[in-house]
Amino acid sequence: MDIICTNCGEPWDMDYVRHEAKEEFCRQGALIVACPCCQGKQQLLTPELQDYLSTVRTIATILADDMDGLAVTLKDGNLI
Ligand SMILES: [Zn+2]
Repeated sequence: MDIICTNCGEPWDMDYVRHEAKEEFCRQGALIVACPCCQGKQQLLTPELQDYLSTVRTIATILADDMDGLAVTLKDGNLI
């Protein structure tokens, strides 16, 4: 299952983020603040994408370290 980088909107496999390349992600628990796609780059996001990422950011913040819960919530809520 995937989770979303809340800086650029890129989906990432949870196991990749958690185990395979964890040093490449800037995270606060389940919240991805920056990923290898967007780190150090300025993002030009549409208002719709900004709203979407704000929603994902809020859910991830509420779930704290629960990355599995975030992935399920995004999938079940048709947010991914
Ligand atoms: Zn990113």
